[in-house]
Amino acid sequence: MSKLKEVITTYNELSFSDRIAFYTTISNEIGLSADMQSFLIEKRLNGGNICIYCNRTHVVKNGKRKDGTQRYLCRDCHRSFIPTSDSITSRTRKSVSVWASYLKCMTEKKTLRASSDECHISVATAFVWRHKILDALSELTDKACLTGIVEADETFFNVSYKGNHKRSRRFSMPRRAHKRGNEIHAKGLSTEKVCVPCAINDAGISCCRPGKLGKISTKCINDIFSQKIAPGATLCTDRERAYLDLARRNGLKLIQMDADCRMVRKEGATYGIQRVNAYHSRLKDFIRTFHGVSTKHLGNYISWHDLLSGNHRDRKEFVHQLWGQMICARITRYGRDIPDRSPLPSAA
Ligand SMILES: [Zn+2]
Repeated sequence: MSKLKEVITTYNELSFSDRIAFYTTISNEIGLSADMQSFLIEKRLNGGNICIYCNRTHVVKNGKRKDGTQRYLCRDCHRSFIPTSDSITSRTRKSVSVWASYLKCMTEKKTLRASSDECHISVATAFVWRHKILDALSELTDKACLTGIVEADETFFNVSYKGNHKRSRRFSMPRRAHKRGNEIHAKGLSTEKVCVPCAINDAGISCCRPGKLGKISTKCINDIFSQKIAPGATLCTDRERAYLDLARRNGLKLIQMDADCRMVRKEGATYGIQRVNAYHSRLKDFIRTFHGVSTKHLGNYISWHDLLSGNHRDRKEFVHQLWGQMICARITRYGRDIPDRSPLPSAA
């Protein structure tokens, strides 16, 4: 007991930042809290009945690890696992609580440096975590399906090969490096720009992701928006012909107007593409705050923007929802795979 008293006395003398460092260190040592462990068993393993790897139900308890974490064994695929196997925290040496504080930093749009200081991780780790978290949360933005009046239009971002390519095993620079980040050599629309189709409905739910280089195509529009706009919805666009096929295939009512037209009256209702243009400008403002985003990560930053720009009246509940999604997601791509991501959208 005297040792414990000594520790408590020393703790009381610590500064605030040293106390945070102390907490981070001990929470890394003691592993999962009991609450956290039961939460993960319930959500990820359906109460300990489902195998993480093969999804079958022939699962038995298989002893405990030294830190008290329950281990399971699947009788079908003969693999052993714990509640955090193949989760965002597996293969990292940080505890779940550090991930929680990092996620909170992301919802507050903190910079990499500020987040790394707050969570006591390196800036390089903060960058990898940012993309692992956005990968884990992408399911939330991917499952959005737009109903009602949907406005769609495309915007463009300069192609960027920014990043540490030395760590990539496959990347070879396809063009001479630009000395200035925003230096684009061809004027107007060209293959030096990536086309990003966006759609947003009257409830503010959006669907947006990088499509291809240069001009939009029917295939690209179909790839991005099929299954994302509910049949029967009204689709408002400019005169782009690529949307005709999408509307026909998905049973959408299509209203096309000149790009500079403010609104169109039809059957007693008014339609426009102002909302999607305002969305473009908010998205560009958000991306600009990162001082250049490489094209391979553009999709992740768009998801981040969409997650934060939703209507979140109860902020605590929103962070809690993100936390649940992040911690339960099955992760099959690891930090070391991030530099190897395709430098351009797959459709390019
Ligand atoms: Zn299995």
